[in-house]
Parts: sequence; C-alpha cells; structure tokens
Amino acid sequence: MEKIPVGILGATGMVGQQYIHLLENHPWFRVTYVAASPQSAGKKYQDALKSGWIVEGEMPSGVGKLIVQDVADTEKAAAVCKFIFSAFEMPDKDAIRKTEEAYAAAGMPVFSNASAHRHTEDVPMLIPEINPHHLDIIEDQQKRRGWKKGFIVVKPNCSIQSYIAPIHSLLQKGYDIKRIIVTTLQAVSGAGYPGVASWDVIDNIIPYIGGEEEKTQFEPYKILGRVKGGKIVPWEAIDISATCTRVPVSNGHTAIVSLEFGKKKPRRDTILTVWKSFSGEPQKLDLPSAPKLPIHYREENDRPQPKRDRDTDKGMAVIVGRLRECPALDVRFVALSHNTLRGAAGGGILNAELAYKKGYLKM
Ligand code: NAP
Repeated sequence: MEKIPVGILGATGMVGQQYIHLLENHPWFRVTYVAASPQSAGKKYQDALKSGWIVEGEMPSGVGKLIVQDVADTEKAAAVCKFIFSAFEMPDKDAIRKTEEAYAAAGMPVFSNASAHRHTEDVPMLIPEINPHHLDIIEDQQKRRGWKKGFIVVKPNCSIQSYIAPIHSLLQKGYDIKRIIVTTLQAVSGAGYPGVASWDVIDNIIPYIGGEEEKTQFEPYKILGRVKGGKIVPWEAIDISATCTRVPVSNGHTAIVSLEFGKKKPRRDTILTVWKSFSGEPQKLDLPSAPKLPIHYREENDRPQPKRDRDTDKGMAVIVGRLRECPALDVRFVALSHNTLRGAAGGGILNAELAYKKGYLKM
C-alpha cells in the first residue's frame, strides 16, 4: 500500500517530535508537511529545533530537510498532505480552535492533541478502546459545518489516560462507580519543552498545574458520554475529585486512585480478571499502534514505577498496581501511562488508525 502523506502542526515541540519519531516507520502514514510558529517558518526542520532533537533515537533524515511552514498557512498543507496531526500551542485557545477548523474546512481531517476543541459537543474525544463509536458523529459534524472531507477528532488530556480504561472496564461489566478521588503525579515533559524550570521542579513537587484539575474532572464525562442528536452528551453520574501535581519525573504520569462503587461491589480477584481480560476495538482491528494488552497489572508491591514501566507495550499500555481495599471508599490502586506516547502522539496516531480502518479517511 502507498503510504498516506500526513502533516504535523507544532512539529518542532515535544509532542510534534514524538509524532515524527513514531511515524518514521509507520506502515500506513508518512510525514510530508511540518508546521510551527511564524518564528520557525521558512527554516529547514533540522534548523528550526531550538534545542535540537529531544525525543528518543535520531531525527529521521527525510524530515530534517523539510521546510517548516507557518501553522496558519492552511493552503500549503492541502497541496502536500491528506490529514493533520495537531500538536501546537498558543495562549489563545480560540485561535487554536479556528486554525484547526480552517484545516478541516480545507478538506483535511485533524487529529488534535490540543484542549481547544475538547468541550465542543460535536467533536469526538477519543480513546479507541473505550468510545470508538463516538466517531459516528463525524458525519453530523461535517453536515453542520459544511465540511466535505475534513473533520476534527481530539484526544483527551494525558492526566486521565492511566485510570480511565481501568474504570471503564469495570463500568462495562456492570459495576456502578459513584465516586473517584484521584491524585496525579505528572511528569515534566507534560508541560512541553522547555516546560517547568529546573529550579522549580528538581527536589520538589508542585501541587498545582493550571487548568489540569478541571480537565481531569470533566473529560471522563465526555469520553463516557452518549451520542445523541449528532452530539456527545456527557455522562455525569460519577463525582470526581482531582488533585494534579507536577513531579520531577521525565516521562510517565502516575495516578493514585480511590473508587466507591454502588450497591454491586466487585471482589479484588474479579477486578483483576476484568482488567487483565480487557480489550477493545484497536486490538480487534489489530491497529499498528495498539498495545496487545491495554491494561497490564503488576503484582509487585512497588510497581508501577515511571522509570521501569512507562514503555510497556510500546508506551501505549496502561500499567496498574497496588489494588487493595480503601478504608474511606471501596478500593484504591496506582496507575501509570506514558504521557507523550499513549497520552499524546501515540494516542493521536491510534485515533487516526482507527478512523482510517473505519473508512473515515477518504483519500
Ligand atoms: P511544546 O513543546 O511547547 O511545543 C509547542 C509547539 O507549538 C511548537 O512546535 C511551537 O513552535 C508551536 N507554537 C508555539 N507558538 C505558536 C504559534 N503562535 N503559532 C503556531 N505554532 C506555535 O508543547 P507540547 O508539549 O509539544 O504540546 C503541544 C500540544 O499537545 C499542546 O496543546 C499540549 O497541551 C498538548 N499535549 C501535550 C502533552 C505532553 O505530554 N507534552 C500531552 C498531551 C497533549 P516553535 O518551535 O516554532 O515555537
């Protein structure tokens, strides 16, 4: 099969570089367009990286020679690529929203990592193992906006990635969850590059990440929501209380979670069976970036650990451990996921693979 040409907005950043790394040998997609801020536009990609290549491996040589375009220049993209991965940052969320809409209007599907469109009712916020059916609203999104081939799909915030699959797997088996109390320990790479100043984070924990607790408390509702009338109706049946912190870890967001169930309370061994047997559409369709097992359970008392476990199953799996009784709620556990792989570029690529396999990317 001839590979589909794709573009990356924010290609010079932390997540953009991770996209380029992951797409180097992708069986379906190849990078033909890179874009970033006006300050980088016009430079060769290899010269536009302010601090060089900061992700794993070497910069793919083919990409180094591409000329970086201005993210605002939609027309140039339409000439050289079929769809877009969006991973650029701007202080003005409305400007991000409008830019992504301009690409969709120009006929290019957009798979976004930005938060700008996560609240938009007709934009699916996808975790392919959990809500692949949310792709169904693309047709309504296109009709409503007059887009022919373009559409927008977003992925959720990286902070919820580690524990939403374990929670969804239990809900799917009929275990009602009433309350969640979660504390996240988020890696410095989550703030992009250069991100948090070393002076602030080494030998320290920062007990606040702007906007993160609100995202952590809202986004599960949309992911678990119902498709109705061409929109996603959030499912707000669970009370979620989140505390999000920044810790001196390079990659890998950890979450410490307590759950309260409704009347039907699963036993520990039942929960483990549910987690270990959990599988979804990406596994069924054997998508190239899908982890073989979406949830890995570690039996050791001192796991999961970011340094040892974040790369499990290509950095695309969720790693869970320390499942035990909770004296305040019902059960508690620790969950981990790689924030720039599963939580960002890898998750975006998995969304595009699902859309492609489901026939939404018309080439
Ligand atoms: P980053 O390292 O700071 O990179 C930001 C990118 O945006 C760079 O390519 C930068 O280009 C570009 N940019 C900055 N100002 C711009 C402008 N005015 N117009 C167009 N492009 C501009 O950030 P990141 O961590 O990669 O994050 C990118 C996006 O992914 C954000 O929306 C973030 O919330 C989301 N995300 C990040 C993570 C993570 O773990 N890091 C996880 C999930 C989602 P220049 O190099 O030219 O300045």
